[in-house]
Amino acid sequence: MIIVTSLHVNEVLDRLKIKNPTSVARHERATRALAMEIVGTVDISCPVYIASVDGACVTDIDGNEYVDLTMGFGPHVLGHRPPAVETALTEQLGKGWHWGVHNDIQIELAELVQEMSPCAEKVVFCNSGTEATMLAIRAARAFSGRSKVAVFDGSYHGVHDYALMVADNTSARSEPTPRRRGAGIPDQVLETVMMLPYNDDSAFDVIRRNADDLALVLVEPVQSSNPREDIGPWLRSLSRACREAGVLFMLDEVITGFRLAPGGGQEYFDVVADLATFGKALGGGLPIGAVAGRADVMSVFGRGTERARPIFSGGTFSGNPLSMIAGVAALTYMKENLEFFDELNERGRKLSRLVNEHAVATNAPVVMMGAGSMFHLRFTDAPIVSFRDVTIDFQETERLFYQLLQERGVLVPGIHLAFISLAHSDADVLFVARAINESIDDLRKAGYFEGMPA
Ligand code: PLP
Repeated sequence: MIIVTSLHVNEVLDRLKIKNPTSVARHERATRALAMEIVGTVDISCPVYIASVDGACVTDIDGNEYVDLTMGFGPHVLGHRPPAVETALTEQLGKGWHWGVHNDIQIELAELVQEMSPCAEKVVFCNSGTEATMLAIRAARAFSGRSKVAVFDGSYHGVHDYALMVADNTSARSEPTPRRRGAGIPDQVLETVMMLPYNDDSAFDVIRRNADDLALVLVEPVQSSNPREDIGPWLRSLSRACREAGVLFMLDEVITGFRLAPGGGQEYFDVVADLATFGKALGGGLPIGAVAGRADVMSVFGRGTERARPIFSGGTFSGNPLSMIAGVAALTYMKENLEFFDELNERGRKLSRLVNEHAVATNAPVVMMGAGSMFHLRFTDAPIVSFRDVTIDFQETERLFYQLLQERGVLVPGIHLAFISLAHSDADVLFVARAINESIDDLRKAGYFEGMPA
C-alpha cells in the first residue's frame, strides 16, 4: 500500500526516477541518438526499458517487475513468449529467417486465416497494420474505380497519409470534417478522405448521398479510443447501409482479429465485411499485416478483373518465414483451444466490472471502457457515445494516475489502451483492479475530483 502524503505529477515522477536509475540514464542516452524512440502517444512519463518478459509479467533493467497491460501494443494475445510460438521460432531460426522466394508457411497461415475469419476468401500478407490498410484502400479504389474513402471520427488505421485523419472538433458532430493529423500530408490527400460520425446512424445517410464517389467505408469493429461491447447493432446497420449503397465495407481487425474471437470482431459482433485487415496477433508477436476478403475484390492483387486493373503491392519482408511460422503457431494454438477466447473475454469483463463498480460506489469520474480483453480507462463524468465525448479536462489527472499505477507495478503505455492476455490469471486481474482502484482513491483523497460529491 502506497501512503499518499503528497500528490503532484512531478513528485510522483521523482519517486519513479529513484526506482529506475538505470532506465533514466538509458533514456538520456537514447535522446542523443534517436529522433524518436517510440510514438509520442505511447510515451510513459517515466520510461522504463525492459530486460525480460514472461507470460503476463515484464521485468525492467532496474529489476522492477510489472503486470504488463501493454502486451506489445496488442499482439500478445497468448501472453509473452507462449511456448508454442517460442518453439516454432527457435526451430525456424535453424533453417534461416528470410529468403524472398516462396515459402510454403505462407500458405499454411493463409489457410488458417481463411478458416477462422469470416470474409477471408483470399489473403495477402504484408509487414504491418499500416501497410494492410494502405493496400486495402488501394485495392478498393482499383476495384470500384472510385477515389474517396470514408473513415470514422475517433478511428485509428495506422500512419500512412490516408489514415492520418481526425475529425475537426469544430465541425458538426453528425457531419464531421477531416483534419490532417500532423504535418507533411498534402492538401490533395484531404480531398480523397471523408469523415463519418461514429456510433451515429446519420453516417448511413452520408454514405448513401456520397455512394457514387465512395470506394470504401472502413471502420474498426472496436475503436481503441472508446472500446465498447454495445456496438454490434450499429456495425450491422452500417454494413447493411454500405451494401445497399453499393459501397465496399471494410473492418479493420488489426487489434480485434484473433483477439475478440477466432473470427475477430466479425464473429464477436456477427457482421461480415467485404474486406478485412489484420496485424498484431496474426503474427504471434512478430511484425505482420494482412488484407483478406472477397475473392473478386482481392483479385486486384493478382491479375485483376475485366473491369478492374491489378494494383502494385509487395515488400521485401512480406510473408517472411519467421512472421509466418510465429503466426501459424499462434493461430494453431488458438484453433485447438477455442474455449480460451471466452475465458479471456470473461476475465476482461471482470476487470472492467471491478473498476466500474468501484467508480460508481465512490462516485469517481472514471469509466473503464472495454470490449473483451481490451480496455481504455476514461476520466469523465458524462456518458461516452463516441470519441467526441472523451474529455481532455482530466489530462493532468490521467498522467498522475498512470504514474501511480506504475508505482503499484502495473504497466500501461502512454496511449492508455490496455490489454490482458491468456497469461493473465485471475490473481493478475484482481491485482490490476486493486491497483487501479487504489490509485483512483489516491486521486480523490488528494482532491483531484474536487467539486464532485464524495
Ligand atoms: N489499424 C488499427 C485498428 C490499429 O489499431 C493499428 C495500430 O495500432 C493499425 C491499423 C496500424 O498497425 P501497425 O502499427 O502495425 O502499423
